[in-house]
Amino acid sequence: MANSVFQVPYPSNEPILTYAPGSPEKEAVLVNYAKMYAETIEVPMRIGNEDITTGDTGTMSPPHDHKHILGTYHRASKNDIENSIQTALEAKKAWSQMPWESRAAIFLKAAELVAGPYRSRINAATMLAQSKTIHQAEIDAACEYIDFLRFNVTFMQEIYENQPENDPGIWNRVSYRPLEGFVYAVSPFNFTAIAGNLCASAAMMGNTVVWKPSDHQVFSANILMQVFREAGLPDGVINMVFGDPEMITNTVLESPDFAGIHYTGSTEVFRNIWSKIGQNIDRYRSYPRIVGETGGKDFIIAHPSSNPKEVATGIIRGAFEFQGQKCSAASRVYLPKSIANEVIDFVKAELKTIKMGSPEDFQNFVTAVIHKGAFDRLANAIEQVKKDQKVEIVAGGTYDNSKGYFVEPTVVVTTDPHYTTMKKELFGPLVTLYVYPDNEWAETLTIVDQTSEYALTGAVYSQDRYALEEALNALENSAGNFYINDKPTGAVVGQQPFGGARGSGTNDKAGSAANLMRWVSPRLIKETFVPAKDYRYPFLGK
Ligand code: NAD
Repeated sequence: MANSVFQVPYPSNEPILTYAPGSPEKEAVLVNYAKMYAETIEVPMRIGNEDITTGDTGTMSPPHDHKHILGTYHRASKNDIENSIQTALEAKKAWSQMPWESRAAIFLKAAELVAGPYRSRINAATMLAQSKTIHQAEIDAACEYIDFLRFNVTFMQEIYENQPENDPGIWNRVSYRPLEGFVYAVSPFNFTAIAGNLCASAAMMGNTVVWKPSDHQVFSANILMQVFREAGLPDGVINMVFGDPEMITNTVLESPDFAGIHYTGSTEVFRNIWSKIGQNIDRYRSYPRIVGETGGKDFIIAHPSSNPKEVATGIIRGAFEFQGQKCSAASRVYLPKSIANEVIDFVKAELKTIKMGSPEDFQNFVTAVIHKGAFDRLANAIEQVKKDQKVEIVAGGTYDNSKGYFVEPTVVVTTDPHYTTMKKELFGPLVTLYVYPDNEWAETLTIVDQTSEYALTGAVYSQDRYALEEALNALENSAGNFYINDKPTGAVVGQQPFGGARGSGTNDKAGSAANLMRWVSPRLIKETFVPAKDYRYPFLGK
């Protein structure tokens, strides 16, 4: 029995390795990339202590080389999902009783495994099957994931330390119970770190989890599962299932023990899940926690006082890194007429230097989009833009899926600030610019605020402090993560807790104590040392 108040190691952000030519990390990741490319693997589901194969399989391919097969993964039947729920509920009994510092140790060990022995493998897997450049893989699958694990452990301790005041003769205590039932985690394709965090954050707080990764992230999800196991996570705490998302979700939501969902993905799917939870509300033992981070239509607005090169660099990095497939990617930009040409010329000149191709070639800044559906969506949008009068392509506009799903970084300029590509999330390397008259700063801020249903990230570039103040006020509800003189992407755990409101999610700020609080149900315990023996209060006296 541990009779101590433990202090977890103080976290700091994992340093980003450079992968410069000749560096050992570059060599290690390329060795793993080549090995994984050459072999064909089979990914089972993991339910309790069993690897589950069903024979109902899907295939995994690199988006930049879609005819090549990396392996297959096994898809669940309804029965498998019911088993995963039962397994999670069984495992909960021991897991929820485990001392919190032992849970902390498991996830801290997982962080060290990713930082060390698994780093090149998880990065190579993310490069291969999600088509990330090494830099994008490193900041996601390695650094962000390590940060999630280390910082969340600290936030967990802070939550447990948060205790109420006491009157004399009384001791008030709060215990932070895991939710009653199991948690369902549903993750998107675009961040290995998000996938790992959605299940791990709930598990860290003593819950057990049924985790359904995206079909397009199974390859690196498999490595996350290996890390959990090597770190000592007991069987059944996180159960990984694949397959038909609708069947899996419907089965989960039928369970009276469904205690909460930790979701990241598109807005439409989340709304659909929320309404199903509503329809099922009479079934549940408790009101389920509903946490979802969803889509974005993220903006950059430049003031006439801003520096054109800084704005142009913000557009290139903000809109095109990872092919614009970040929920935070800049996809609508507002430029004042006085600097618009200079910004656009600089963007065009810089885009000419950008190379597109396989992430195995480190000179490529842009690789492929995730799948055929994404490719078709973007190709159709580009074709529509070519037909419409109100909009003109000033850079890019080509696409080719013969080997991989490649879409050239595309910049379009519109005369209509409400044109469809200013409003709709396309989730790819297409950014739309609108040029506004310099003397309409206030009016343009109103347009930025009212154009889209989303409110995830946004950036304002200005050297004029009054203009910045005006933007901060006018755009108060337009973004959950607001950037001043910086691109709207690249949130760092512990520094910029992430999430948005309106159609962008419940804003429970991944990588913060606020998020972890959603996975506990506090119990207040009041203990009176010398209880009263007479019901009469003094005011009753004559
Ligand atoms: P997606 O909505 O296609 O899929 C997300 C998850 O939902 C996947 O696991 C998928 O299998 C599952 N799903 C799909 N249809 C479902 C259904 N009918 N019922 C239940 N589950 C279903 O999203 P994606 O393409 O994987 O990811 C891109 C989206 O995620 C974008 O909209 C992006 O903005 C958003 N995103 C948001 C954040 C954020 O923090 N706000 C972060 C990353 C991604």
